Amino acid sequence: MSDTLGFRVNVKNHLEIGGCDATELVAQFGSPLYVMDESIIRNSCRLYKNAIDKYYGGRGRVLYASKAFSCLYIYKLIAQEGLGADVVSGGELYTAMKAGMPMEHIYFHGNNKTPQELELAIANNIGRVVVDNVFELDRIEAVAAAQNKTVKILFRIKPGIDAHTHSFVQTGQIDSKFGVALETGEAMDIARRAAGLAHVEVVGVHCHIGSQIFELAPFTLAARVMTEFMCDARDKLGITMTELNLGGGYGIKYLLQDDPVEYDAYIKAVAGVVTEVAQARGFSLPYIMMEPGRSIVGPAGITLYTIGAVKEIPGIRTYVSVDGGMGDNPRYILYQSEYSAVIANRAGEPDEAVVTIAGKCCESGDILIKDIKLPKAEVGDILAVMATGAYNYSMASNYNRIGRPAVVMVKDGEAKVVVKRETYDDIIKNDLL
Ligand SMILES: *Cc1c(COP(=O)(O)O)cnc(C)c1O
Repeated sequence: MSDTLGFRVNVKNHLEIGGCDATELVAQFGSPLYVMDESIIRNSCRLYKNAIDKYYGGRGRVLYASKAFSCLYIYKLIAQEGLGADVVSGGELYTAMKAGMPMEHIYFHGNNKTPQELELAIANNIGRVVVDNVFELDRIEAVAAAQNKTVKILFRIKPGIDAHTHSFVQTGQIDSKFGVALETGEAMDIARRAAGLAHVEVVGVHCHIGSQIFELAPFTLAARVMTEFMCDARDKLGITMTELNLGGGYGIKYLLQDDPVEYDAYIKAVAGVVTEVAQARGFSLPYIMMEPGRSIVGPAGITLYTIGAVKEIPGIRTYVSVDGGMGDNPRYILYQSEYSAVIANRAGEPDEAVVTIAGKCCESGDILIKDIKLPKAEVGDILAVMATGAYNYSMASNYNRIGRPAVVMVKDGEAKVVVKRETYDDIIKNDLL
């Protein structure tokens, strides 16, 4: 199915993004090419931010989950929009720092932060560390003590809500590598232990219940369970936490039939539940953090490829081969993720045949889209795969020693390279003879 997902088609019948003609972008910057519409990213930031102001009196912060797309430019952009960031590695942290992101608005996640990563974070006065387990808690205490600092921490909690895709279940969900469980008492135990440590300050709790979620109910249920836990921790341990971080996972439109919830509906629904629980238990309203990743950058991005071969296997399948693939978008091979696409130089033409878009890597599984309806594809056509702004560039690899594509930001008809295309010299730069 061929759909531009809201992007314009210009008078030449070419796909347009950020006021730029997709075919001209390829002529100028080559292919494959990641293209991101800066205005869409900024608008998404504002939607979330305004929702916190409107529905929760501004008592909260939006943190961009930067694993979705991480480079210097994006941290600068989101800092300009007043968002914080969450990072999950020393590399993401370092990039955010180099981009000039204010450290107090950076949250450090992950289930096995190394001592070196913690040293870097604490030496640079990271805003918060989201503690995953007791081993890490003790490591943080040791690193903070050695640096004579106090680190503000949250606990990563498994709230017992498993919301992976289009439906959710309330389960034990103890079988997750992330966080501490509520129902076994593990969460209360780690909070008790932290309360006795001299170099950490317990400020809140965090959960992240899944990704690409299309419903409100898992979020409101998580908000309820988590707020109750904050009240319980006050009653049982005398710790007053002030921050409730509800993670990300807000779904986006990959296909025409996907029907995501408006971004501000999440905060509206969650704010109501948190307020209700807090009032019922005489608890001061906590700050609410949200951590959207995919929904900030995903819909803003497309990937442009050049078609190099069209192989028709009569009665079986037609393979349309492009000059990228699993190296720049591993989501099909990892999760069988579905995408829509258009032929960017003939964007208004009616669909004609069902084809499979194949990448150029030496793997039969290197597919970008299985069975998509498109106008007749010809060698030299530009294929645009839609909604690739999240978890594409950030998950890209050099498999087959193929260089990663450039990332171009477009806005008001202007295009700017924010990540250069990798050269052959980039590919061998760490090799030694
Ligand atoms: C991945 C992740 C997010 C962002 O998830 P999206 O689905 O991209 O919104 C937020 N918080 C944490 C802790 C994550 O691991």
